[in-house]
Amino acid sequence: MTERAYLDWNATAPLRPEARAAMAAALDLPGNPSSIHAEGRAVRAAIERARAQVAALFAVEPADVTFTSGGTEANGLALNPEIQVSGGGRSFDRLLVSAIEHPAVLGGGRFAPSAVEILPVTPEGLLDLVALQRALTGPGRPLVSVMLANNETGILQPVPEAAHLVHEAGGLLHVDAVQAPGRVAVEVGNLGADLVSVSAHKLGGPKGVGALIRRSDAIHIATPLMRGGGQERGIRAGTENVAGIVGFGAAAEICRLRLADEAAHQRKLQKRLEDGIRAASPGSVIFGAGAARLPNTTLVALPGLKAETAVIACDLAGLAVSSGSACSSGKVEPSHVLAAMGVAPALAQGAVRVSLGFGSSEADIEMFLKTWKKLSESLGRERRGIAA
Ligand code: PLP
Repeated sequence: MTERAYLDWNATAPLRPEARAAMAAALDLPGNPSSIHAEGRAVRAAIERARAQVAALFAVEPADVTFTSGGTEANGLALNPEIQVSGGGRSFDRLLVSAIEHPAVLGGGRFAPSAVEILPVTPEGLLDLVALQRALTGPGRPLVSVMLANNETGILQPVPEAAHLVHEAGGLLHVDAVQAPGRVAVEVGNLGADLVSVSAHKLGGPKGVGALIRRSDAIHIATPLMRGGGQERGIRAGTENVAGIVGFGAAAEICRLRLADEAAHQRKLQKRLEDGIRAASPGSVIFGAGAARLPNTTLVALPGLKAETAVIACDLAGLAVSSGSACSSGKVEPSHVLAAMGVAPALAQGAVRVSLGFGSSEADIEMFLKTWKKLSESLGRERRGIAA
């Protein structure tokens, strides 16, 4: 089989070897973490070690980490009108979300659709803070959800600024940070967020596990999604996904220890990639090129080139990339993110996302650039043929 280059790390990252090893060991632990015998206590200890590892990555206390089945569930748990805040009394009346959120947030969680307001973004792909400020003056207590890094463009959102406005208005801020860890530092206190959703599989942990993190014990989720045995302090019932949680912890620890090196590695490859794309196809558009962005994400369109054509050509050439958002892979739908940025549908239809990670190499980038150059040249030939 020919070598392949995996350039779709925003869809999911390959499992880190350290996570795999920790998971293999955890799979052999026989006990139930809720049992009080030695076998049960050993599994409990493994979970609590992982909780501490995850807490350290996000600079919170272990008790502020609630494990879930992933980012989607963490978002669903957070978007809840009944969140209790010490000294804050009342529940939340409405939900404000940015137009570029992941569908797991745009769905509105447990708020009635009529209580959800969508906030615009600027043409640069940033949450419109003036619109947020205006929306915050509306009636009722607001819960606001803003992502840290967009999964399609990689553009970093002005979260600390949003937090300031939200708190001044007596609201609560939830941040979907699923795409950020392992790429940029995510310290909950520095963000000013009250609740933060994360997912293991984007940072080299296993799929199917994540966490909802709270700023402090002043915040309490009074109405869980899953009720039952009282696991996760009653916030998320059900026997824990022990191997998943342990793998998440191991990956989080490596992420924390290697962040500076891994981010610099990704930034260097991203620059080579984007320089190469511009050289091979001067007419191409790299979305958010001027904005603060994740060091691993490049969303590019070449006018006239359809994303499906590019993705299929790349696949045949041994490259895994995606068109627009790949979370629901398989279906190619116009990007709501680019639409919110005011990108013309014809250009948005061509958006191809190349996303890198700790395991990406210069050879991967050169392989992509070779294929991209061919695509650009054949588009040029087609155009000349039509014109002739
Ligand atoms: N939020 C964002 C920004 C994402 O990119 C994704 C998945 O791609 C999710 C949430 C969902 O996370 P999970 O796949 O863990 O449910």
